[in-house]
Amino acid sequence: MDTVLHYADQFVFDKLYALIWPAYTKHIAGSIVSTWPRDDVWRVCLSLYIITCVFGWLLYFITATLSYYYVFDHDYMKHPKFLKNQIRLEINCAASAVPWMTLLTLPCFAGEIFGKSLLYGDVPKTAFDWIYLILSVPSFLFFTDCGIYWFHRWMHHPRLYRYLHKLHHKWVIPTPFASHAFNPVDGFLQSLPYHLYAYFIPMHKYLYLSMFVFVNFWTVMIHDGEFISHSEIINTSAHHFVHHVYFNYNYGQYFTLWDRIGSSHRQPDNEQYDKELRIDLKTMARQARDADRIENDVLRQSKAKIQ
Ligand SMILES: [Zn+2]
Ligand SMILES: [Zn+2]
Repeated sequence: MDTVLHYADQFVFDKLYALIWPAYTKHIAGSIVSTWPRDDVWRVCLSLYIITCVFGWLLYFITATLSYYYVFDHDYMKHPKFLKNQIRLEINCAASAVPWMTLLTLPCFAGEIFGKSLLYGDVPKTAFDWIYLILSVPSFLFFTDCGIYWFHRWMHHPRLYRYLHKLHHKWVIPTPFASHAFNPVDGFLQSLPYHLYAYFIPMHKYLYLSMFVFVNFWTVMIHDGEFISHSEIINTSAHHFVHHVYFNYNYGQYFTLWDRIGSSHRQPDNEQYDKELRIDLKTMARQARDADRIENDVLRQSKAKIQ
């Protein structure tokens, strides 16, 4: 992030802040630059906020739009649980959540800029450095998969669910645009394991940034409704579809490991992998009935637990 901020300062913010705040303006060789110190904590936070928010919107809109047009199975829009104007609702929800999620995430990114995290920028020199760099990928995936599993599972606790996570389950038949359509606090809490990793385990900063982009791609992919992989190890879009329809299963992000340990794994039904069967109106009607029944059970149990 410090490299991104450096170039953003050089090409955008030095000029932008000079134009916005004339009191901090200096004329150098015919151009104006801001005298607001680049390392001022408020300037760093404002710049990080703008970068993260714009980058978050771009990543969401580009990947979700491409996935919607080229991957998402549009036959799912005939499903009885597909809402009227759902695409517009999902986009409104996600686009308005990004600025709030960015605000909550800001202390984590600012801490990285001010050297409080364990991210490093040294070029690997020895064989050990390279092995460590390569092993950082599975380590990051394992750590964050575990964290997201438990945060997500807690979000389904009756005391938290209706306040924080219910919004994401409004989309029983999700599209790629549902990938970031969360309550901002829910979205932030489920992204917290990524930030915690940078503060607990050393990782190369460029690899960390790449993983962050990958995570966003993955989040869109598990909502794309294209069930190609029959994997029992990877938490695929078919697994996440099961989570949205049948609710109490498959809380994981990348792998089925924690769902198996936590007894919440449910392998997708064969009909999900058969194009004709899965868009059959009878299949969809049965899924809708099951989803309604489970939702009613959960609501009843929630009320009983809260009282
Ligand atoms: Zn959930
Ligand atoms: Zn989802």
